[in-house]
Amino acid sequence: MPPIDVHLKNSEKRTGKEYGELHHWIDDDKAKALEIHDLAKIHENIAYVRERWGEEAVNEFVLHVKEDLEHRLKENLQYFGLFK
Ligand SMILES: [Zn+2]
Repeated sequence: MPPIDVHLKNSEKRTGKEYGELHHWIDDDKAKALEIHDLAKIHENIAYVRERWGEEAVNEFVLHVKEDLEHRLKENLQYFGLFK
């Protein structure tokens, strides 16, 4: 996964705010992070994010998960020599 700084910078570029508390909630607790990143549970997690941080944070939450998936895909492709 990309370092948390990447998520903070991307949020700031998009919204003018880093959403630090949100990104730390998503990544910091390793026991919970898998569930929070789980696409099968994204609806429950979106409801929680909306209630705690508001509508704009929902977008930042979904984009955080997307950025992690893209990062992982790129790493896998690089591992197999399919992406430089
Ligand atoms: Zn993450």
